[in-house]
Amino acid sequence: MVSQSDTEILKKIYDKSLSNGKSYEWLDYLSNQIGGRLSGSLNAELAVKYTKEELEKIGLDKVWLQPVMVPKWVRGAPEFAYLETIPGNTTPLNICALGGSVATPYGGLKANVVEVNGMEDLKNFTREQIEGKIVFFNRPMNETFIHTFEAYGDCGKQRYYGAFEATKLGAAGVLIRSLNLRLDDYPHTGAMSYRDLPTDQRIPAAAISTNHAELLSSMLNLDKNIRVFFKQSCKQLKDVQSYNVIGEITGSEFPKEYMIVGGHLDSWDLGDGSHDDGAGVVQSMDILRLLKESGIKPKRSIRVVLFMNEENGLKGGKKYASEAKRKGENHVFALESDAGGFTPRGFSFDCSDANFNQVLSWKPLFKPYLVHYFEKGGSGPDIGPLKNDSNVLCGLIPDSQRYFDHHHAATDTFDAVNKRELELGAATMTALVYLFDKYGINPAPEKMQLKN
Ligand SMILES: [Zn+2]
Repeated sequence: MVSQSDTEILKKIYDKSLSNGKSYEWLDYLSNQIGGRLSGSLNAELAVKYTKEELEKIGLDKVWLQPVMVPKWVRGAPEFAYLETIPGNTTPLNICALGGSVATPYGGLKANVVEVNGMEDLKNFTREQIEGKIVFFNRPMNETFIHTFEAYGDCGKQRYYGAFEATKLGAAGVLIRSLNLRLDDYPHTGAMSYRDLPTDQRIPAAAISTNHAELLSSMLNLDKNIRVFFKQSCKQLKDVQSYNVIGEITGSEFPKEYMIVGGHLDSWDLGDGSHDDGAGVVQSMDILRLLKESGIKPKRSIRVVLFMNEENGLKGGKKYASEAKRKGENHVFALESDAGGFTPRGFSFDCSDANFNQVLSWKPLFKPYLVHYFEKGGSGPDIGPLKNDSNVLCGLIPDSQRYFDHHHAATDTFDAVNKRELELGAATMTALVYLFDKYGINPAPEKMQLKN
């Protein structure tokens, strides 16, 4: 299936991305001129406006905004915490509220602390042991996973459901060890959920830096009676209107078959969201520009979708899929970049064997670019709702060893993104889009049988 011209076209795509890419310049603006883009914030709206204008400049067939209602959670004043060995003898702790958490009481919360090793361990404790105390979830991410996202998935529950489970045992609050594979001083935020707990039963939840999680744990080993104080003033406000930003190159042969590429425009607020997911946003934007610059006229309609609210609601991804369904749009392919702007290694595919085998036949084309990871697996949260039994969903897989140094923390900043790595990712995605558009998407096995 691999022809000489594919080799040449891929070379052209990579050359253009590395010598004339726009992704890094766009990321610079998004990160340094706008900054963190929490759903419902002014920065999120500035990012909508900016990316729409930039897409208009690259001469697409259509650019538009898709309205979507999103939650608005605000952090408020900076959080403050310390541990107290005896009254008056205190050590500061670096914490941040988890997204969606309630505030502490106005004067803060001071209580004894019970350390547990993740969600499973909480089951070993009685109400008597937990009531009125701060539960400190201190299970570290497992450093033996090579795919660090697996370590994240393995450990993430304590952040998401820790407060909900601890409430059942009468806890006053929870502190969660940051989902970070290294020891440093930065707390990492992220979404949490109270499920259907009535508002008046919700307890404050905060993340603590890995260094201070270690400190707190060793202090507790010396003395169970130490207390922790923390204060946060975050708040969930009413939902507000925001937008997915969409641009399209209309297909020359099959305009009603849609292939989409995307990332999420919102981010957490502690850093500027350069890796998560500014990188995915600018790479996706550049795919359409690189196709045009390389003289490729896609047969299918190629859309870039910049999803709003992936971090704390996934409202943009759900909205896009429900609108696609309502309009009867046939989405044959979707590709997401939401795993950081690091060196691309390959893709993870959620598709039929026939489509996957086709991908494997393209492996030699990617070899010169050191892109060699082609495996079946998940795709991405924003495109997940588009799944059906015949389409191809996939996610860019960059090297993930450094990702959790930055993820959801103040360290997720522009300087942490390498220009070449970012551009290689954009080119790798463009190449995959080009190949799928050229060779087509295999229909579902049952549809093939019907034809026969
Ligand atoms: Zn993300």
